[in-house]
Amino acid sequence: MKAIAVERGSEGPAVIEKPRPEPEEGAALLRTLRVGVDGTDHEVIGGSHGGFPEGEDHMVLGHEAVAVVEDANGTDLDEGDVVVPTVRRPPADGSNEYFERGEPDMAPEGEYVERGIVGDHGYMAEYFTSPPEYLVPFPENLWEYGFFAEPVSITEKALEHAYASRSAFEWSPESALVLGNRSLGLITLAMLEFGVESDRSFADRDFDRTYCLGRRERPDPTVDVIEEIGATYVNSNETPLETVPETHEAMDFVYEATGYAPHAFETVEALAPNGVGALLGIPDSWEFEVDGGRIHNELVLHNKALVGTVNSHVKHFEGAIDALKELPEWLLEDLVTTVATPEDVAPAFEYGHDQIKAVVEFDSL
Ligand code: NDP
Ligand code: ZN
Repeated sequence: MKAIAVERGSEGPAVIEKPRPEPEEGAALLRTLRVGVDGTDHEVIGGSHGGFPEGEDHMVLGHEAVAVVEDANGTDLDEGDVVVPTVRRPPADGSNEYFERGEPDMAPEGEYVERGIVGDHGYMAEYFTSPPEYLVPFPENLWEYGFFAEPVSITEKALEHAYASRSAFEWSPESALVLGNRSLGLITLAMLEFGVESDRSFADRDFDRTYCLGRRERPDPTVDVIEEIGATYVNSNETPLETVPETHEAMDFVYEATGYAPHAFETVEALAPNGVGALLGIPDSWEFEVDGGRIHNELVLHNKALVGTVNSHVKHFEGAIDALKELPEWLLEDLVTTVATPEDVAPAFEYGHDQIKAVVEFDSL
């Protein structure tokens, strides 16, 4: 079968031939439909994030997938069912308490592998295998957008944790600011603007006023999407993050999806009293100056919170699926800028300003 992988010492992704995997007992065989590409894949390809499976000379890419059960192999899945896989799996030396209590997203580094990111092969192949407890049923009619379940689940978890940090008092947020205008930022912006009516989704608040900060000049396709959503574009070249309260308003909620490390600290200044910032970006080591006293003081005297959050698990995928059912289809269509095939995969890894979300399509329903 064809797979898209990074090989040790190579510059970029390559199409390789691999044997079709045989499911072990307790695992099903999945036929891949589509796999999304995001900033994390670019970091993995560039070598700044993640790592190869032990003893292997390559890693199959891809952690945002939608697939069909090809061979249930004695599990309680049904052949033909559409599913989306979660990303974390137990490390090679066995399971641990985080997996046993169904919270692998809370496991510290070293206590997990992540398919297509660190220590395990991903889903960018014609087939993959998985135990059923890591597969979430996905509505067949939305299969083309199934790869969005993973990134949306990341935001579901971020919202759960951020809002939990504000649950001790009467918090009535009205304004939200998303930092970053690629795939994760834009789909999150839509979730905050439109809200999701579902008991399973943590995106159940719709904010009165939403903003999205980027560093691009108009005309730009992502700015068009921001405005179609009904949000206000903030150009950080004109309006640095810490000046947003003066030029727009102080924010009840900030969602950082840039990976630009100064944003973590400037977020504290952009927040309104009692606000919360969720940090998602994964920067490299970077030394710079900040006014630590001021940040400390702001956090304390204005009851502000910063929450770091990574990965997600089954309940977040379930919320994400409900969110995807409610997000307008024009938005999902606008976000998908490239559908590549394994035969000509290069366009999926182009990263120009007209690329928002690229996917590799292995098969269709
Ligand atoms: P991208 O790297 O594709 O997008 C980053 C966005 O941030 C781009 O729109 C970029 O602008 C913008 N940006 C970067 N620096 C600045 C700046 N100084 N001012 C304004 N805008 C800026 O990533 P994704 O959308 O896929 O993901 C966002 C971040 O979240 C990444 O760091 C990624 O690693 C992380 N991530 C974290 C997860 C988690 O579980 N915590 C899961 C998934 C992703 P431009 O395009 O113009 O360069
Ligand atoms: Zn991702």
